[in-house]
Amino acid sequence: MSPDSAAVVIGVLAVQGDVREHVAALESAGAQARPVRRPGELDGLGGLVIPGGESTTIDRLSRIFGLHEPIRALIADGFPVYGSCAGMIQLAEEILDGHREQQTFGGIDMTVRRNAFGRQVDSFEADLRLDAVSAPDRPVRAVFIRAPWVERVGPDVEILAAVEGHPVAVRQGNLLATSFHPEVTGDHRVHELFVRICSSARA
Ligand code: GLN
Repeated sequence: MSPDSAAVVIGVLAVQGDVREHVAALESAGAQARPVRRPGELDGLGGLVIPGGESTTIDRLSRIFGLHEPIRALIADGFPVYGSCAGMIQLAEEILDGHREQQTFGGIDMTVRRNAFGRQVDSFEADLRLDAVSAPDRPVRAVFIRAPWVERVGPDVEILAAVEGHPVAVRQGNLLATSFHPEVTGDHRVHELFVRICSSARA
């Protein structure tokens, strides 16, 4: 295969969270996927997924493993990253209700509130219309688990879906973030969208 037709290789940050589910979803969406635990494993990737889990833990372990600075540098360089739930929090320039020492990778000009829906109900599911995915007339089943919502977006952020007026899926350039967990439903259209973003970024 020529380099252009070869599947794009996407890493899944594997310090904590739903790593296996994202690897499987990315492979169903036509990418090659592999876990990333050390800085050297970022080499040669066409994109990175930051899974859900606990953003404070993902932050702390990423710094301990020396991944924080390299990931920030990649983001500043236009590298595609998709963050789900805790991963969305880690892509926000600003967070509310974070841990005192919590840092994010940043990249998306937005303010995200942690556990925002959780103040009303811990976890819930909703059918969302996402025009950015294939067959948008078929709703995306979104699973929210102690999910954040977006409280502010900058002018370059595109809102892809909202729940009760709160954005829950956003995109800024090659950065994509959802409050919900598409890796647990068997519907891989959000991962397909991210694979398309990675393939166009490579081209
Ligand atoms: N509440 C978690 C956090 O703040 C996110 C939950 C999730 O990723 N499912 O990091």
